[in-house]
Formats: sequence, structure tokens, C-alpha cells
Amino acid sequence: MGFLNHKNNREHILPDVFTAVKHGVTARQVAEMYGIEVNSHGMACCPFHDDTHPSMKLDERYYCFGCHASGDAIDFVSDLFRIGKREAAVKIAEDFHIPYDPKGHSGRGQPVTLEQKKEWEMRQLQKGFREWRGKALSDLNGDYRILTERTTRFEPADRNAPFPKPFVQAHNDRMLVEFYIGLLETASQEMQIHLYLYDEGTIAALHDRVNGREKPRASVWEKLEAKKQLVHNRHTEAPPANPQRAAI
Ligand SMILES: [Zn+2]
Repeated sequence: MGFLNHKNNREHILPDVFTAVKHGVTARQVAEMYGIEVNSHGMACCPFHDDTHPSMKLDERYYCFGCHASGDAIDFVSDLFRIGKREAAVKIAEDFHIPYDPKGHSGRGQPVTLEQKKEWEMRQLQKGFREWRGKALSDLNGDYRILTERTTRFEPADRNAPFPKPFVQAHNDRMLVEFYIGLLETASQEMQIHLYLYDEGTIAALHDRVNGREKPRASVWEKLEAKKQLVHNRHTEAPPANPQRAAI
């Protein structure tokens, strides 16, 4: 009916509320709008189960690795406020000032089963993970070559002399690089996905540091120094054998 009605052009240009919201905002944006704290890796504590460590990945859509909740911006708001999908879409449109045709109809009536949605989310995750793993391995192998060369270059001739700082840095970084390459090549897929979710930033920062693009934010090394100091004060002994674990 509205389809053939050309009298009101303005309404005709505007999409229905579902389409408008779908193209207007991401799940991450609505989550942040309604008070969910999303970290720099796009992870947040899931509001749909008792979550203490962020296990929800938010982007265009969201997926929780704890309770498997998933969906788009509208699903998120619908579940968060326990309101219907249309009500959720209207709420988002109003809160984000997204224009829409209130009389518009959408094709959202198509039945999508929960299984289909979960499958889609899983495919998205796997795709993101595979792309990340390939790039991370290639970066880390490049870093390994750079650090090996650097370690050799700064190795002190006199074995009794204190290690020069660039040697120590290169040596420590190479241990970390080796550690991550080992995990990405041999660890279980579950463990690797865990790395993708929680250590993505650390690996990127490591790569930046090795290539002289260190960001000025608090580095893992500063945290490690603080931790070392703690351990040192407690044991007045050598720093922990595995700096990676200590830094977390
Ligand atoms: Zn959850």
C-alpha cells in the first residue's frame, strides 16, 4: 500500500525502523550508549550472564563466549531492556536520532533460527581468528629474525661485563616472540582463540616495539618492572623465570 503511495516523498525516502537502525549503529555503539564498558579489544563483561572477566566480543554484532548470547544492535537492546524487537529498534532510533519511516515495513519477518545465528557468529569468529593468526605468525617470524640479528649485534664481547640494555631488551623480546610463535603453532585451537581474544593487543604492541613504533601508553614492560620489583622485594632474588606469566 505505502509502496504505491507517492504523495509523501519524504516518508518514501526514509527506511523502516529496522533497516534504519541496522545500517545506523553497531552492537558495540548501542552497548556503549547504554552503559556497557567496552575495552580497546572490543571486549566487555557480558550483561546476560554473571561475568567478571570480559567474555563478550562486540563489533557490528556481539557474541558471548561464556553464555553464547549473540545478535545485532536490536537484539542487544531488546535483551538488555527486556523489550520487544520493534520497541528496541524504536528506542535506538530515538536515542541515536536516526530518522526512519514510522509506517515502513521491513523484511525482518524472515525466520532466522538461533542455530543459524550461532553458526553465523561462529563463522565470523573463525574468519577473524584465521586472518589474525596468519598475520600474527608472519609478523612474529619477521620479529624473530630482527631480534636474532639484534641480539648478536649487541652481545657483549666480555662475558663478565653487564649486559647492555639493547641486548637485554632484544633477548627478552625474542623470548616473548618465541613463546607466542610456539603457542600459535602448537597450542590447541581453543588456546589460540584465547590468545586472539586476550593477547591480541600484547602481540601487536610487541611487534610495534620491535619495529620501533612503540606507543607511548603504559607498556607491558612497565608492568613487568613493577612486578619484578615486588618479587625482588619479597625474595631478594633473581627476577621470575617466565616474564610473560609475571606480566599478566
Ligand atoms: Zn554471556
